[in-house]
Amino acid sequence: MGAIIGIDLGTTNSCIAVVEGGKPVIIPNAEGGRTTPSVVAINKNGERLVGEYARRQAVTNANGTISSIKRQMGTENRPELGGKRRSPQEISSMILRKLKEDAESYLGQSVTDAVITVPAYFNDVQRQATKDAGRMAGLNVRRIINEPTAAALAYGLDHGESQKIMVYDLGGGTFDVSIIEIGEGVIEVLATCGDNHLGGDDFDQRLCNYLVSEFKQQTRYNAAKDPVAMERIREAAEKAKRELSTASSTVVSLPFLAQNRSGPLHMELTVQRSLFEQLTRDLVDRTTMPVKTALNDAGLTVSQLSKVLLVGGSTRMPAVQEHVRSLVGMAPCKGLNPDECVALGAAIQGATLGFSDAGLSSGPGTEILLLDVTPLSLSIETVGGVATRLIERNSTLPVRYSQIFTTAANFQTNVEIHVLQGERPMARDNKTIGKFKLTGIKRALRGIPQIEVTFDLDTNGILKVSARDLGTGRAQGITISSSSNLSEDEIQQVMRDAEQYAQEDSLRRETMELRNQAEELTVRVKEALRVCGKEMERANRNEVKNDLSNLERLIHRYKPERPDSVPAEEFRQGISRLEHSSDGLMSRYSAASQHP
Ligand code: AMP
Repeated sequence: MGAIIGIDLGTTNSCIAVVEGGKPVIIPNAEGGRTTPSVVAINKNGERLVGEYARRQAVTNANGTISSIKRQMGTENRPELGGKRRSPQEISSMILRKLKEDAESYLGQSVTDAVITVPAYFNDVQRQATKDAGRMAGLNVRRIINEPTAAALAYGLDHGESQKIMVYDLGGGTFDVSIIEIGEGVIEVLATCGDNHLGGDDFDQRLCNYLVSEFKQQTRYNAAKDPVAMERIREAAEKAKRELSTASSTVVSLPFLAQNRSGPLHMELTVQRSLFEQLTRDLVDRTTMPVKTALNDAGLTVSQLSKVLLVGGSTRMPAVQEHVRSLVGMAPCKGLNPDECVALGAAIQGATLGFSDAGLSSGPGTEILLLDVTPLSLSIETVGGVATRLIERNSTLPVRYSQIFTTAANFQTNVEIHVLQGERPMARDNKTIGKFKLTGIKRALRGIPQIEVTFDLDTNGILKVSARDLGTGRAQGITISSSSNLSEDEIQQVMRDAEQYAQEDSLRRETMELRNQAEELTVRVKEALRVCGKEMERANRNEVKNDLSNLERLIHRYKPERPDSVPAEEFRQGISRLEHSSDGLMSRYSAASQHP
């Protein structure tokens, strides 16, 4: 059997590698490049272009060109190309087909098997879509592995000490940060975070805007309205950006860029690295929050990290490297080319699979167990519309969790289990992913029945939810296979919303919990009054009754849609007053219920 190649199918660029003579090497494409733009086009002649040629004609053939298709993987979107609506899988398969052909001409033999990498946050649907794209390209996708895991394999971190590392990946259009733990034969993704719309393209845009405005000042010509000039400026900006990663200044020289009444206009501008860094400082700063969130989600501090790997071409910028260094307090590893190491790691994994196929026990890397995480928290709705979490975001799959719940009303014989996905504290702000009823609960006062709800999320992201009445043993359940059917954009949106509304949400949650606590207390006190109220002194009984009706008034006044309708402090005081005045009554009631 032929070699199993490794493919980094990127948002802006893709890369292929193979293990030769025990070492992973990059396979250059037919145009001689080490990476291939992930761009597909059909030109006016109906010709299909992939890679560099497609990228070059993108401006003049915007309608016939598709880039960044990776962002749409796993969605129902059907972008049009060549007069036909096509699935993201199909468009990705065009890129994969070219990569396969380039590998075949480099290796001089046919290539059938591949390992493809995906971001660690990709859900099951997105992974499946990537596999389907491979199949459409005539590839047998032997394994889908996480990009940060592949980077760790490329650095050979799988056979060494156990450690926790950070992978900081700033590519052309996306930023991802992952915290991973490397142990005995296991590489586990502990947490991921990122920004789906932050990358090298934004840096190019800033420089481009600067060049356009300087050119306008010098010549009064507005290049922004001239698509051909713009394409040249954009290309020059990207080239200048790359040069500024090693040089402290560069010259952007574009002769005959445009024409006005007095003749041809040429662009000749010197750009200092310090100016470029000034123009893009906020973009670099935008990577700070995701780094902090990922560390926080992994329950780690920077001092517990032993290494930081840089992935993605944009991490070649000195300002980015300096920012990473200042965030984590150590110099990042730079041994491998950041835009190649993911493909190299995939090739290592491919070679390992090839060795096991041949019945050999060890290859250039040992067979490793790769663990994924769930991208969003899973909850059920409980009293007052609160989303009570059973599985936290970034939990390692598979994961199982049970919790005992009870009824909210007296003699309630059925409960609805409303399953939610998302980060918001209130149920209605999250996505409903399933609902079912548990019926036949034994009639009892509220709070007495014990209903055990179990969430079981397997390695494919399939969620099984079951509810069991521990009194009768009756159980009901559902299987939700689309629990991961969200695009990264939606996930990012959910996270952004969660941040934006965090303050309001926490107030709502606090007052809602206080309201529920208050209601529980009033029910207990009323029952105690009914059973042993007569044995109380009149003054104390009146005091309890008074505090009770005050608290009931607060509960009545509270409106969940307006969390400030009853300030939390007022609830707290009301509860504390009633707890205090009913103290004797409750002791008497609890003694009475133990010795009826
Ligand atoms: P990737 O998708 O990982 O190949 O990253 C592509 C991005 O890296 C593009 O935005 C490139 O412009 C950028 N890039 C590549 N090389 C450099 C460099 N030397 N300096 C700055 N950015 C670079």
